[in-house]
Amino acid sequence: MSDRVQSYETDEIVVTFDPGKCIHAAVCLVGLPAVFDVSRKRWIDLRNADADAVMGQVDACPSGALQYIRKTP
Ligand code: SF4
Repeated sequence: MSDRVQSYETDEIVVTFDPGKCIHAAVCLVGLPAVFDVSRKRWIDLRNADADAVMGQVDACPSGALQYIRKTP
């Protein structure tokens, strides 16, 4: 499996995922399953929650594999 950092983006937010850092704790999958779903090839779908919910879940990632940049104030 590639360990390249993946990037997902909407008009509001950019979320990156570094597979090399992920410890597979599944915190994201349990916390916001509409967005974080490994059954999809592009497993993060930012359209399925608002940016605040996504940022809250990214902050809960225990490994730092998930990061975000907010594009709008
Ligand atoms: S919460 Fe972070 S460490 Fe846990 S599975 Fe998701 S990306 Fe990986």
